[in-house]
Amino acid sequence: MSHADPVVAIIGKPLGHSLSPEMHNAAFAALQLSWSYVALEIEPDQVSNLVTSLKASNVAGLNVTMPYKSVVMSSLDEIDELARHCGAVNTIRFESGRASGFNTDAVGFLRSLRQETSLDPSGCQVLMLGAGGVARAVAVALASAGAASISVWGRDEQKISNFVSDLKSAYPNVEWTKTTGQGLRELAANAGLIVNATPIGMYPDDNAAPLPIEWITSSQTVADLIYRPAKTTLIKEAENIGCVVLPGVGTFLHQAAEAFSIWTGMPAPLDTMQEVLSRKLGYIPRPPGV
Ligand code: NAP
Repeated sequence: MSHADPVVAIIGKPLGHSLSPEMHNAAFAALQLSWSYVALEIEPDQVSNLVTSLKASNVAGLNVTMPYKSVVMSSLDEIDELARHCGAVNTIRFESGRASGFNTDAVGFLRSLRQETSLDPSGCQVLMLGAGGVARAVAVALASAGAASISVWGRDEQKISNFVSDLKSAYPNVEWTKTTGQGLRELAANAGLIVNATPIGMYPDDNAAPLPIEWITSSQTVADLIYRPAKTTLIKEAENIGCVVLPGVGTFLHQAAEAFSIWTGMPAPLDTMQEVLSRKLGYIPRPPGV
C-alpha cells in the first residue's frame, strides 16, 4: 500500500466484534483496489475533530456505528435526505474537502427484503419493535416504499412519541401509531410484517425473544435486524410455524455493499462479501424459494 492509497475506517466504541473490516478488505481485494479498511475505536470527544481532520487526507470515507450515528451529523457538510429522516448517518464520504453523510441501513433493509422474500412493502401493515437507530432507518425504508401503517412499540414513551411525530411529518401518508405495550398482541395479530429492531435475542442472550410466538401466525413475515446469532430465537420459532423470515444478515450485507459503492463509485462484489459473512456467521442471504 503506498502512502496515498485510499483508506476507509469504521468509528465507534466498542468495535471488537465488527465484521466490517474483513468484509470490506475482501471486497477491495476482489476488485484489485489498493484500498484498505481499518477500525478506529474512539472516544465521544474525538468524533468532531476526527471528521474535520480527515477532510484533507487520503481517507475516502467512514462507517459510523454505535454510539456515534447521530452525534456525527453535526460535523458534516451535507446529509442526504434519507439520512436526515433517519436521524442517523452510518456512512460518510470525503470528497473535495467536504464530508457527506448517508444512511445505508434503510437501503440495505429494503434490498434484503426484496432479495430474500416476495413481500411487497407497499400497502403493508408493519409492527416495529424498538425505537432506536435502526428502527428509524427501517421505518423510513418501509414508509418510502409505501407501507400503509407502521406501529412502533417501545418502552420509553417520550422516545416513541418523538419517533412517530418526526416520521409522521416526513411521511404523512402512512398511518403511524405507538404503544408501550397496550394492544400489542392485537397489533402483532394484524401486522403483515413484524420487525424486531431491539437487541432482544442478541448474543449472548440468544434464548430471549421480543414477542411470544403464540402471537404470530404462519401468514406473517417476521424480520429481525440482529445478525449475531444469524438466526435468533424469534426467527427460528417463526420459521418453525411456517412464517416467511428475514434474518438481519441480509441488511448487514446490503448496507455494506451500498456504502462500498458510495466510497468507490463501483458496484460491490456481493459474492465476496457474502462469503466472508457465511464463514463468520454460518448463514448466506438467499433469494426467495432457493
Ligand atoms: P439502539 O439505537 O440502541 O436502539 C435499540 C432499541 O431497542 C431502543 O428502542 C431500546 O429502547 C430498545 N431496547 C433495548 N433493550 C430493550 C429491552 N430489553 N426491552 C425493550 N426494548 C429494548 O440500537 P440500534 O442501532 O437500533 O440496534 C438495534 C439492534 O439492531 C441491535 O441488535 C443491532 O445489532 C441491530 N442492528 C443490525 C443492523 C444490520 O445491519 N442488520 C444494523 C444496525 C443495528 P430504549 O430506548 O428504551 O433503550
